[in-house]
Amino acid sequence: RAARNGDDGVRRYATAMGQVFLRRFQLVTQFRQALDAGQIEVHYQPKVALPHRKLVGAEALVRWSHPEYGRLSPDEFVPVVEATGLVDALTFFVLERALTKVREWMDRGLRMSAAVNLSVRNLADESFPDRVAEALQQANVPPELLTFELTESSVMADPDRSLPVLRRLRTMGVVLAVDDFGTGYSSLAYLRQLPVDEVKIDKSFVLGMGTDLGDMAVVRSIVELGHSLDLVVVAEGVEDDAARDQLVTMRCDIAQGYLISRPLSEDRFEAWLHARTERGVGPADETILTL
Ligand code: C2E
Ligand code: MG
Ligand code: MG
Ligand code: MG
Repeated sequence: RAARNGDDGVRRYATAMGQVFLRRFQLVTQFRQALDAGQIEVHYQPKVALPHRKLVGAEALVRWSHPEYGRLSPDEFVPVVEATGLVDALTFFVLERALTKVREWMDRGLRMSAAVNLSVRNLADESFPDRVAEALQQANVPPELLTFELTESSVMADPDRSLPVLRRLRTMGVVLAVDDFGTGYSSLAYLRQLPVDEVKIDKSFVLGMGTDLGDMAVVRSIVELGHSLDLVVVAEGVEDDAARDQLVTMRCDIAQGYLISRPLSEDRFEAWLHARTERGVGPADETILTL
């Protein structure tokens, strides 16, 4: 009987794994069509400078409204898409949308940058910087209003390829940020060598700061390290006033998180912006949010 139960377990496991693989396979085969069918959306989450909460930009975060599976998180489908050549189409879809937004904001007198997440494949592609330059020109957006976010591990996967791509982007004037910092194993030694302008503290540390002294220490050290390397330090995952106040005390430069806003669809982000710029806020570069 034990053997039969074991067998059942294996069969259930195999069925479950089969479903996981089937779903992944479907996501890969359906992604291209999903782009064309308008199922892929870009949401925006504001980034504000501390301590005065001046709006400095927004991170573009992709969403897939799948007809069968509903709203899919990028954590599920981006890795699947990344395993194929389609990630290039994803990056440029998000990039072009985001640059169109930046141009719209500029036309309304708002100087806000957009941050786009890159995949390891983009960093290995030597044609990438030129195509980014083309997209900037097409959208008529200055490079300093575009930030690319990349993880340390995506750079370190193949530094001989990725570092020249990063240097070229930086020479063009695009801002580069290390995302999810603190989760890699080689963090401190490599950060100094990366051609980046900004470091984003991984949200796990920021979320844990209120209850875990270790997380608090990690956040504080990253802020200090970042500043000693002349980097702008961003905290993601800022969910409450306590975290925000701590970050202000630590002199962290920029905050992003549910406290300020969740990522919002284009329409809702525009409404969010409108509600705040309505409050008699002056010239664009003086936009101060009252949150
Ligand atoms: P990320 O780049 O580190 O983005 C930050 C994630 O933290 C987002 O999850 C955001 O919704 C979430 N977040 C922001 N503030 C808070 C907060 O206060 N509390 C909590 N608990 N979470 C917060 P999201 O949108 O699910 O994206 C997950 C990841 O998917 C991103 O992590 C990024 O690595 C990847 N991703 C998203 N869009 C793209 C894209 O267009 N291209 C690529 N290659 N990757 C993307
Ligand atoms: Mg990011
Ligand atoms: Mg992150
Ligand atoms: Mg992440």
